[in-house]
Amino acid sequence: MQEIVPDLWDVDEIESGVGVHVYLWRWAKGVTIIDTGTPGNAEKILAGVAQLGLQPSDVARIIVTHGDADHTGSLKALKRATGAPVICHTVEKEFLEHPDRRKPAKTPLGLLMRPLFAVATLFPQFRVEPLAPDRTHVDGDKLPEGFTIIHTPGHTPGHISLLHPERRILIAGDAIHNRGGKLGAPLPLFTPDMENAHRSIWKLAKKYGEEIDTIVCGHGEPIFSGGGAKLQGLVDTIFEAEAKA
Ligand SMILES: [Zn+2]
Repeated sequence: MQEIVPDLWDVDEIESGVGVHVYLWRWAKGVTIIDTGTPGNAEKILAGVAQLGLQPSDVARIIVTHGDADHTGSLKALKRATGAPVICHTVEKEFLEHPDRRKPAKTPLGLLMRPLFAVATLFPQFRVEPLAPDRTHVDGDKLPEGFTIIHTPGHTPGHISLLHPERRILIAGDAIHNRGGKLGAPLPLFTPDMENAHRSIWKLAKKYGEEIDTIVCGHGEPIFSGGGAKLQGLVDTIFEAEAKA
């Protein structure tokens, strides 16, 4: 397990072929788990909780950035083990309750992939057990952990990122990724509304950029400083490319 900045931990990379990150946030009421990796990783995540000297009953909350299988795969097992309340965006509730409703982009490749999406759910490593969240939130809601919920739709309709203004940390989920040390927009194939995904990045940069130093994403390496400027750099790239198109 890696401590990114004080109180924010990255559980060792979840092996799933996609390398997704699960984060632990230690605070006054215990620990909050942010995203849960692919199915079968609950024990690994709870081992991370134990490394902090905490018990499963110390898990105060489980926050889900969005309903994708690599983020909700171990959600039900963690819920069972900890009893902690699960929260997501109000719009994303549907996809936690009906994981089969997630669709790839409506591009030719995405349409080709649709049957594959359906077949993938037959394999245990991609099969997500449906779960009704205990509570849902909307843009601007503040959590006792110190995070503000930022609605960043596009990759999925109810995708959220979490901003900790005092600590200047953004937990971005899949609103952006930092694979290979390069900040980028979410993968088009798995992003049904790319235009909205771009607007969400613009929103993060313009509205909150000055409040962000550290950025961690669902995929890729952490950014330890200057996150706001890096976001603005990505926005410039996206909108220059759009202007030329
Ligand atoms: Zn993901």
